[in-house]
Amino acid sequence: MDQPPAESAPGEPEQQALFGWPDTAQEPDPQPSFRDSPAARRMLDVREVYAEPAALDSPRGRQIMARFPEARVTEVAGHWRIPSLHGNEGNIAQWVRIKSGTLVLGVKQTLRTRPNGRSADWIAPGPSNGCAMACAYCYVPRRKGYANPITLFTNIEAIVAHVRRHVRAQGPKTEPNQCDPRAWVYDIGENGDCSVDALVCDNTADLIAAFRGLPTAKASFATKFVNPDLLALDPQGRTRVRFSLMPPDDARLLDIRTSPVAERIAAAADFLDAGYEVHFNLSPVVLRPGWQRDWAALLTHLDDVLPDRVKDQAAAEIIMLTHNRSLHEVNLGWHPRAEEVLWQPDAQETKRSQNGALNVRYAQEIKRQALTRMGQLLASHAPWLRVRYAF
Ligand code: SF4
Repeated sequence: MDQPPAESAPGEPEQQALFGWPDTAQEPDPQPSFRDSPAARRMLDVREVYAEPAALDSPRGRQIMARFPEARVTEVAGHWRIPSLHGNEGNIAQWVRIKSGTLVLGVKQTLRTRPNGRSADWIAPGPSNGCAMACAYCYVPRRKGYANPITLFTNIEAIVAHVRRHVRAQGPKTEPNQCDPRAWVYDIGENGDCSVDALVCDNTADLIAAFRGLPTAKASFATKFVNPDLLALDPQGRTRVRFSLMPPDDARLLDIRTSPVAERIAAAADFLDAGYEVHFNLSPVVLRPGWQRDWAALLTHLDDVLPDRVKDQAAAEIIMLTHNRSLHEVNLGWHPRAEEVLWQPDAQETKRSQNGALNVRYAQEIKRQALTRMGQLLASHAPWLRVRYAF
């Protein structure tokens, strides 16, 4: 302490509070973080942490552990394939318990930015892998298994430094493309949901802050979760949030544990006003009886509720469902009703992906017709919604 506290002279009364009111003016309580709210804890209430020792020892690791002092910690040699955790094709109750109560902390060893060219110019090395939500069609667990909780990478400084170097090496973007007319777009959330990661730590905040200082580039991530804490991150237009949307009946059946679709739409203006670019992922488009009617209703709802300032800058990606044979088999065990709409062998064809998985997509002609129809629905119900790409 630099100076001793002032004391009253002996015999003098202490200074009276003006008008007899106690002089107890206090700073107003800072706005409590959403991440500390009961709603956030319903999504993620970490009781168990599996961690690489180096991750635990890092500043980010220590910051995360300070949030969960009661959590039981198990040290692991690597964040990949923790036998008591990953895999697990059993029932959803078990996955959800693991996804909502368990966290993995690791150090990302390979930092590589990959070209994309569809949704983004580049896929940045993500700050996480895994998700606390459990969408029935999700491809994220494909390598770690279905009970794939969030793994947070604690070497965020290295990830940010890598991305900065990559952006600077590109120089300015001179040719507009479908990703963005001016900025190099980096997807920062390929293998998880950055909004949910932000319930646990500042990895998402750090990337958003980094892109704030990169005028030739823009971060981008898709999300199905509305996290109001992101509104305070001041992205200054250098982060694009893509709210994923599908007809609410589909979402109730397929988007397990996510924010309701109406809530995602209602958040769009707040995110724009907070400095984000706000786009929409119309995805996945699932073909089933009544799909055209329900997408028309969703687009009409967008047209009705979104203010012009959101519409003026919005763009959309349309992504038709890609499913997977092993995921189909797993889903039959816990959520057969989802498979009634996801698995349509008469309309789908199988394709072996690069990693050997048997992916299932709508047959070419069916897909072509569906995309044409989506374009017509957009033209009729939300003509302001520019399509960045359809796949
Ligand atoms: S929100 Fe995204 S990452 Fe999470 S389960 Fe759903 S599709 Fe997968």
